[in-house]
Amino acid sequence: MLSKCANPSCSTPLVYLREGKIFMMEHSQQPRVRPEGPVLVKPQSLHHVEHFWLCGPCSTEMTLICDGGVKVMPKVKRLARAVAS
Ligand SMILES: [Zn+2]
Repeated sequence: MLSKCANPSCSTPLVYLREGKIFMMEHSQQPRVRPEGPVLVKPQSLHHVEHFWLCGPCSTEMTLICDGGVKVMPKVKRLARAVAS
């Protein structure tokens, strides 16, 4: 099972599934396991489906995308940089 938030910079342990959001990512290629990346769950025998969980606070600000690997991305685009001077 998932053990913590998929956000590498967040260490919130997975306690209640009702909090946060579960993501199911299907892969046609072998999943990559990165030491500091999202926690991976062993894929099912036939379907390479991985489950990721973002905790409540993270799921409101972040989402997961599949781009050659699962990445945590901020949901909201950065606000325009403050104009210098
Ligand atoms: Zn989190």
